[in-house]
Amino acid sequence: MGQRAQPTLLGLDVPDLLELLGEGARPYRARQIYDALYRRNVADLDEQTALPKELRDQLRSQMPHGRLEVDQRFDSADGTTRYLLKLPADGRSVETVLMPQDDRHTICISSQVGCPVDCKFCLTAQMGLERSLSAGEIVGQVLHVCKEHGLDPRAEHVNIVMMGMGEPLLNLPNVLKATRILCDAHGVGFSQRRITVSTSGIVPKIAELGAAEVRPHLAISLNASHEEQRRELMPITKKYHLADLMEACKAFPLRPREFLFFEYVMLRGVNDTDADARRVVALLANMRAKVNFIALNPGPGIPFQTPDPERVASFQKIVMKSMPCYVRRPRGLDIYAACGQLKKMQTEDLVTIQ
Ligand code: SAH
Ligand code: SF4
Repeated sequence: MGQRAQPTLLGLDVPDLLELLGEGARPYRARQIYDALYRRNVADLDEQTALPKELRDQLRSQMPHGRLEVDQRFDSADGTTRYLLKLPADGRSVETVLMPQDDRHTICISSQVGCPVDCKFCLTAQMGLERSLSAGEIVGQVLHVCKEHGLDPRAEHVNIVMMGMGEPLLNLPNVLKATRILCDAHGVGFSQRRITVSTSGIVPKIAELGAAEVRPHLAISLNASHEEQRRELMPITKKYHLADLMEACKAFPLRPREFLFFEYVMLRGVNDTDADARRVVALLANMRAKVNFIALNPGPGIPFQTPDPERVASFQKIVMKSMPCYVRRPRGLDIYAACGQLKKMQTEDLVTIQ
């Protein structure tokens, strides 16, 4: 844990590239390299013949490109694709999921290999933390999926959710740098309105995220309706209390027409009663909030059950009276690509659930 990834060209911004090129370098050269890496998404800088050959040779000798390669690919019956992408810095791999729906595409990316937060319902938690991803490794997941599936980041119908492996707010500098590159019109070209980051509730980092000039929308994994229940399900609550989390949410500087999102994993007989629903309403009162309910996606070693659809509907009906709320449809359940299922499951593991 804590091991740093070796630097790569992916992840560098224009000032970093200028510094890399060294004294006397012309700024437009740095911009050309930036354009090739992110806007053109070239697999190899040698494709960029507008760059002088000596410059390409210099760059190659200085740093690897950092492109992620497919280790494994799993395709679900519902059209979802889960990738295990190899990180060139140390050969570890990370998971990235593409969920197409009608003419929309959502790319779910990871911020860490594994996760140090010990949520009791989540398979990723069982891995612990291997390490955090660099900005280049975060951007690289998006570049890979866009290239492989011919997606145009500038198109209105492509969204990014930072809801894969890891706790993004424990890797905030790299998450923010990746967001700046992803949302730069000269970079990858996404709009900030189409990126969302989800956190388990690292309270002090919420204000830091709110202060960032370029930042994703914020989603909070609430998952419980009171302190004691949340401590049991998400032990991080012992450090960051629910009341403080709600205060940080209320203080979050929302932009015009922006909403805070809350996720609530429903566990049968644990946090899915009507009384829980009423407490959720009370907790989120006076916030500009939307709530997503996720019926538990099961997995080996997860000591909870999925509630019946009727229970989910009853819960939703109560919350719906006070704020917009939705039930998230599981995607890629058959290939362990759904929420909370990312643990590098292998083909032989998959057989048991097909
Ligand atoms: N670590 C961040 C980002 C991951 S998002 C976070 O927890 O917010 C993953 C989402 O899936 C979270 O909202 C989490 O609460 C939810 N989740 C985790 N395990 C799950 C499971 N087994 N079934 C359904 N949702 C789950
Ligand atoms: Fe980490 Fe999120 Fe899973 Fe909790 S739910 S263990 S924070 S990935």
